[in-house]
Amino acid sequence: MSRIIFWLALVFLVIFAIRSKIREAQKRHQQQFRQQQPPQQPAPSPSPQARSRSQAANDAEVMLQCAHCGIFYPASETVQANGRDYCSAAHAALPSA
Ligand SMILES: [Zn+2]
Repeated sequence: MSRIIFWLALVFLVIFAIRSKIREAQKRHQQQFRQQQPPQQPAPSPSPQARSRSQAANDAEVMLQCAHCGIFYPASETVQANGRDYCSAAHAALPSA
């Protein structure tokens, strides 16, 4: 009878040891997963910031002053006429003062 109890206790101990090892492996796997995740999550986040920075750089492009009305406008929207820069084709068509 004592042998049966001994074997039962041994089996329980083995099962408990295996379960604890499985839990440790799962915890390690989750920790590795969590450690691998943070570098992946910040990676996409800097890109919008870089995009906003690049957009800010694009927004801060060269500004030109209209030869007719005097307003400042982006150089990409310039209308050149008679060697002068205008904000619009309408102002470029008007006779310069
Ligand atoms: Zn103008």
